[in-house]
Amino acid sequence: MITHDVVIVGSGLAGLRAAIEMAGKVDVAVVSKVYPSRSHSGAAQGGVAAAMANSSDDSVESHFFDTVKGSDYLADQDAAEIMTRDAPVTITEMERLGCVFSRDEKGRIAQREFGGHSHPRACYAADRTGHALLHTLFEQSMKHKAAVTYYSEWYLLSLIYEEGSARGITMMNIRTGELEVVRAKTVLFGTGGYGRAFKITSNAFACTGDGVMTAYRAGIPLEDMEFVQFHPTGLYGQGILMSEAARGEGGYLVNGKGERFMDKYAKSKMELAPRDIVSRAEQTEINEGRGIGGKDFVHIDLRHLGREKIIERLPQIRQLAIDFLGVDCIDKPIPIQPTAHYSMGGIPVDVDCQVITDEKKTKARGFFAAGECSCVSVHGANRLGTNSLLDACVFGRRAGKAALDYTLSARHESVNEAAELGKARKRLDALLSTPETESANDIRNELKETMSNHAGVYRGAEGLLVAKAALKLLRERFKSVRVTDKGKLFNTELVEALELSNMLEYSEIIVEGALARRESRGAHARTDFPKRDDANWLKHTLARKNADGSVSLGYKPVVITKYQPEERKY
Ligand SMILES: Cc1cc2nc3c(=O)[nH]c(=O)nc-3n(C[C@H](O)[C@H](O)[C@H](O)COP(=O)(O)OP(=O)(O)OC[C@H]3O[C@@H](n4cnc5c(N)ncnc54)[C@H](O)[C@@H]3O)c2cc1C
Repeated sequence: MITHDVVIVGSGLAGLRAAIEMAGKVDVAVVSKVYPSRSHSGAAQGGVAAAMANSSDDSVESHFFDTVKGSDYLADQDAAEIMTRDAPVTITEMERLGCVFSRDEKGRIAQREFGGHSHPRACYAADRTGHALLHTLFEQSMKHKAAVTYYSEWYLLSLIYEEGSARGITMMNIRTGELEVVRAKTVLFGTGGYGRAFKITSNAFACTGDGVMTAYRAGIPLEDMEFVQFHPTGLYGQGILMSEAARGEGGYLVNGKGERFMDKYAKSKMELAPRDIVSRAEQTEINEGRGIGGKDFVHIDLRHLGREKIIERLPQIRQLAIDFLGVDCIDKPIPIQPTAHYSMGGIPVDVDCQVITDEKKTKARGFFAAGECSCVSVHGANRLGTNSLLDACVFGRRAGKAALDYTLSARHESVNEAAELGKARKRLDALLSTPETESANDIRNELKETMSNHAGVYRGAEGLLVAKAALKLLRERFKSVRVTDKGKLFNTELVEALELSNMLEYSEIIVEGALARRESRGAHARTDFPKRDDANWLKHTLARKNADGSVSLGYKPVVITKYQPEERKY
């Protein structure tokens, strides 16, 4: 058994920001299934939001309001206020730590427009903002090499959580197959999102909701899982992101009739309406036969921005469209479609990122979560672009501070190493000794197809019931999944099977939550209940695992401090 004061799972922005806060003060371990700088945060393109006072009439208050309105009033306003208030200092801090932001002509950190924000407040490093931020934090954590122990390419298997307290984790060394128990006073998850269950997604292969499901299996409920964000501009057929920065810089969305169709859906904000609205607009154009050539895509047109601006501000997306579709956006519009992008739901936490376990906000001792795997909830039913890098940095730091305080006065609780290893071994052995009749690839593809067709941009009871039945069958088939590699070294087939089991289980939670929520709010658009229903549904979902494995749903109130819900118009 390995012992540390704190074990952080996840080395994206949230995990690393928390690690830096604690480094040198307590003994910190960071576990990641991918090499730290390959975490999905590094793929973020467009920017990170903060009211930096570059534009004289922007303010923290305005950022706060935009966030709440963008969330379709489901955000907890205490959390959204903290995030927007801490935003400018967080950016300055990241800059001082070494992040190379793009500059404006006055030498200040440049800011661009982004969807749903009433002012240009996205700070950026060309269209590689996440890369710049992640490498800054990774470098800084390296500075504390003596104080932070990395377990790179180790896979989290379980959370050891007993009598209301987190005591450690079990994990597998992907390189050698070796199992280990890590005992810790404090466990902190920064394990990222779960977009991979959809056919078209911008998410990296690693975004399979492992942390979220590990917490769920340990008895922690999950909040608002039905709210999955679809980003309007995924590269057609691939899902790879064409950053919203492309529209922030002035790109147009055009349908098969050559029309800039957004004027029908959000007259004042046009292409820069929030993502839920733009994705629905695109999907409607496609469903009604106005895709390009009647097909299931539309165009983003950047040609009028000119070569120079494209090369300076959007170099990465230009290259991605060339590499994957052979389209150079300097001379041609890019085919795009909505792509599963961000998980608004996750592990419920309080504003200090301590995990809460029920409707009464009972705290889990020694268990913290931050970033995309958590639900604090600053994004409510729909996140605004550039607010999630911010969320990961702001709440990563807060999680680090709160976890440090907790750790300093906590002690290690007992862990039964043999029993924990036995449970982990049993789970792996079960996968390695199935009847092997089912292909993991087939199950995965059918899962993605099911989720995209029935729990995508639009959902209705009929489709969700089809999805529910299909998922049940897929989970049954998974019991006979084939894992042909029985070896220990780099058994990625085994890791992928574990990931698939997570995807199957959280998809059920998404579908159950979506089926129950008989209204449309933010990213959750029900064809059979097209209106928001504040009287019955202004509340957060909490999904819990029953003893028989099924999902039960409870609800908790939304924190409203300043802004009463009103109709959202853009
Ligand atoms: C293509 C793309 C572009 C984006 N652009 C923007 C943008 O411009 N602005 C913005 O605000 N947001 C953007 N986002 C969203 C934003 O990048 C993420 O929400 C944020 O970076 C998440 O950070 P995180 O630290 O929570 O998780 P991640 O960076 O996803 O890190 C998760 C970590 O958990 C580890 N992990 C997961 N499971 C396991 C396991 N079983 N065992 C061990 N380790 C595990 C992973 O190895 C990884 O280190 C974008 C997202 C995508 C996909």
